[in-house]
Amino acid sequence: YAAKQTGEPVRRWSPALDERAGEFVRLGAEIRAALDNDQFRVVYQPIVELPAARVAAVEALVRWEHPVRGLVSPAAFIPVAERNGLIVELGEWILRTACRQLADWRATLGELAPDRVSVNVSARQLARPHFAATVAAALADSGLPASCLAVEVTETAVFEGGQAVVALHELRALGVRIALDDFGTGHSSLGLLQTVPVDILKVDKSFVDNVTAAGRHAVIAEALYQVSSGLGLAAVAEGVETAEQAEALYKVGYRLLQGYHYGRPVADPDFALPAAMSEFRTHV
Ligand code: C2E
Ligand code: MG
Ligand code: MG
Ligand code: MG
Repeated sequence: YAAKQTGEPVRRWSPALDERAGEFVRLGAEIRAALDNDQFRVVYQPIVELPAARVAAVEALVRWEHPVRGLVSPAAFIPVAERNGLIVELGEWILRTACRQLADWRATLGELAPDRVSVNVSARQLARPHFAATVAAALADSGLPASCLAVEVTETAVFEGGQAVVALHELRALGVRIALDDFGTGHSSLGLLQTVPVDILKVDKSFVDNVTAAGRHAVIAEALYQVSSGLGLAAVAEGVETAEQAEALYKVGYRLLQGYHYGRPVADPDFALPAAMSEFRTHV
């Protein structure tokens, strides 16, 4: 009655709501079990440096090898792990795995190993009081130098400032690079650059998609490159799928590119110069 009188919406049970809550709980329990049963993998996608198309860095991306459902996309389970808090444990496992992997490649491949591994970090991890200490421990245990690690954070994770931004300053003090992921898609992308310590802008795929068509996207991709270079930041163009996109991005200044054109995320990328290199050179 009270709810009705004040005009508040009356909450009714609905099968859809119930199903979603059930699904959330069920998936959460499965993620917990998957952690215990070692069902997560980390794959690595090249970030190439033009014009030579050397693999300058890799981005670590998590995969779930579900025994029944097969490969589950992170889009399906990262949001759940973020909401139920398991992202803290999963994220630390990803971080440690990625640091160990690059330390391994450095030991076995020498010069051919990428300079850096970039690890995605959720808002919830970043907001924990000792996140930088967790990173420092992962570096120490793997023997990976801090300069070989970048953390990718989204604009929303750092938008409110607070502990997340404190953590970024602490990470920077360690020598870890900070990358702003999906740059340009947030509410205050440019504003953040004044308040958040950043080294790398990862320009979102949406600006890359139509970079070859005359129009807004090409102009924005170029403007975002100008902002990054004016501020002395590195710019990575995300989601490059064609040689034409690569060429257009190169023309407006981009030297760091990532996308299916250069390689999909895989467990063990080939760090020898990819075939795309010669293809690209004939275009420029
Ligand atoms: P993201 O960090 O922006 O990662 C880039 C996503 O774009 C990856 O999808 C990658 O496979 C995909 N991608 C790369 N190049 C291309 C391309 O040329 N075309 C297309 N269509 N897609 C491309 P993925 O691996 O499915 O990851 C999706 C998102 O899930 C990531 O977006 C990130 O936000 C989140 N995620 C993935 N791994 C982790 C992780 O270890 N920790 C956290 N916290 N989030 C993760
Ligand atoms: Mg990322
Ligand atoms: Mg990204
Ligand atoms: Mg993106």
